[in-house]
This record gives sequence, C-alpha cells and structure tokens, in this order.
Amino acid sequence: MIKITDKRDCCGCAACVQCCPKRCISLREDEEGFLYPDVNIEECIDCHLCEKVCPWIDRPDKQQPLEVLAVKNRNDEERMASSSGGVFILLAKKVIERGGVVFGAVFSVDCLCHGVPSPGIWRRYLHEAVGGADYKDQITGIEFRNKYLGGWKNFSFLITGKTNDENKVLYSETHGKNAYMRGFLSNLYLRPSCYSCKSKNGASHSDLTLADFWGIDVISPDVYDDKGVSLIIVSSEKGKSLLYSLDVDVYESSLVVAKTMNGAFKEKTVSHPKRKKFFEQFDKCSSVIKLIEDNSKPTFKIRLRNKINYLNQKMIKFKR
Ligand code: SF4
Ligand code: SF4
Ligand code: SF4
Repeated sequence: MIKITDKRDCCGCAACVQCCPKRCISLREDEEGFLYPDVNIEECIDCHLCEKVCPWIDRPDKQQPLEVLAVKNRNDEERMASSSGGVFILLAKKVIERGGVVFGAVFSVDCLCHGVPSPGIWRRYLHEAVGGADYKDQITGIEFRNKYLGGWKNFSFLITGKTNDENKVLYSETHGKNAYMRGFLSNLYLRPSCYSCKSKNGASHSDLTLADFWGIDVISPDVYDDKGVSLIIVSSEKGKSLLYSLDVDVYESSLVVAKTMNGAFKEKTVSHPKRKKFFEQFDKCSSVIKLIEDNSKPTFKIRLRNKINYLNQKMIKFKR
C-alpha cells in the first residue's frame, strides 16, 4: 500500500485514490495546505494497485526529442486569449473535432511545469485580496496570465467579479507587482515534490510538451511580437503529424536553446531559501499578503542566478 514517508515522493495526482478497489484511500490536507493520500489500513486488502499506478514509483528512462520548435497560432485573437502561443486551443479543437481520436491514435500532451502552489495559501490569499466571507460568490473569473494589460512577457493577474449585477475587474496587477504571483514564481510555496520533480527534462513521455518560448525576443526578434510564442518539444511521430496538421507558424530551434530559455526545463526547481520560515509563520500570520511580501524578496543568491541565466540567454544568440 501507499505510504508517504518523504513528501517529495508524492505529487498529489490522486491516481492511487481513484484506482483503489476498496475505496480506502482518502486525501488529507497537511499544515502547508497540500493534499496527501491516507490509507485506512483496516480496509486495505494489500492488492498493491495503488503502488502500480503511482507515477512517482518506477519512472521510465528519459527520451530525446525529435524536434524542438517555436510555434505561433495564426489566429491572433486565439493567441491573445491563451497563456503562450495559442497551440493548446488548436490541439483541443482538433481532438474534439475528431471525436477524441486523431489519425487513429491517442495522444498525450503535457505542459512544462513550474510547479504547483499550496491550495491552502491560495485560499487565504483570495479571501484577503477580494475580501469578505462571501468572496467566492462574487468571483466570476480568475486569470493568472492575462496578456491584454501588459503583454505576454509582462503578463497580469486578474480577478473579475459581480458587483451590483455588473461584471467588473475586481483586482488586476502585472505579475511582478502581484504578491501571490511573486511568491509562486520565486518558489516560496510550491509542493515539496516540485523541488524533486521526476517528470522534467524528457521524462514525461508525452507526444508533445508545451511551454513558453521565453527569450525568443533575444534570439529571434523577427518571431517575437509580445502576443505569445510556444515552445514545443516533439517526442513522437504521431505528435509531429498532429502538430503539423494545425494552422500554425513553425520555426526550428534546439534543445540547448530551449533549456537555456525556459527555466522549467531544469530537472529540479530550487526552493526559495525562506520557504521553511514562511510556512512556520503561515498559520499565525494576520496577513498572508504581507507574509509573502516579506519573504519573497529575491536574495543575493537568487539575483546572481537570474543574472547568470540572462547572460546565458545572451550568449546563446552569439553562438547561433
Ligand atoms: S493496496 Fe489495494 S486496497 Fe490497499 S490501499 Fe492500495 S489499492 Fe487500496
Ligand atoms: S503521487 Fe502516488 S502516492 Fe501521490 S497521490 Fe499520486 S498516486 Fe498517490
Ligand atoms: S513540477 Fe513536477 S511534481 Fe510539480 S506539479 Fe509539475 S510535474 Fe508535478
């Protein structure tokens, strides 16, 4: 049966809960606000199905991509409504159009992931940002990556809601100014498994992996227009056929460029040095926004790392 002894070994996917024939696994929230499986051993029949289905146990070897590309949806409206180059919406449309099966094959698509933030922090943040006990009834939409206010690179966090029967923007800030986004992007409250992720760098085994092509403005200014460019890792022939059947502009790139440009490619996300201190204070704090602001300021080490990443991006341009 599943037994979590190290929280880095559970990504919280709930596959074990879904597959248990005795329905004896439930998810419980820990003090950081993350859910973990908890087995009722009285009812467990030791069938080991939960271990077999767990994606964190026995990972397959990494695979090399067939192609690494910069891709843009040709429809600007769809691109602006998406978080990066608007490719996911085209993939989804194609699959729905064909009743879930494209070219007689089943596809897997994943996103290059920064990590998942604590649901507990999110609840406290939302309550404080929008205010009032009835905040959930007020909210009609939340966007973490709105491009209309500051563009793709300087994306915005936006909450819309109903006041006096009118739909209005209740809250909007560019990601650099918004406390919640700053805490998330500086890795202050990600799930422990995200600091030890086993799905990155060719280990996801999806046909296509989607991400943002950050830094495309530096290496290919002719492709960049601040409406979003996707970075696509093609790992199978069927993924390639699907991608090339879409209405997109495609530009060749390489794995070296992609790894330099998108930090999420790295095998492990580095935890913010103040993460432990942050969670020790979380329960007692009167304002989670202030707690995030006090703890998410970049340390000297983080500033240095960012500077080195930026210089590496510049170097890539000259090496090409
Ligand atoms: S071993 Fe089988 S019965 Fe026990 S928790 Fe896992 S899936 Fe459920
Ligand atoms: S990672 Fe494994 S243990 Fe954790 S929820 Fe998923 S299946 Fe269960
Ligand atoms: S970083 Fe890895 S462990 Fe975390 S949510 Fe993404 S894929 Fe899962």
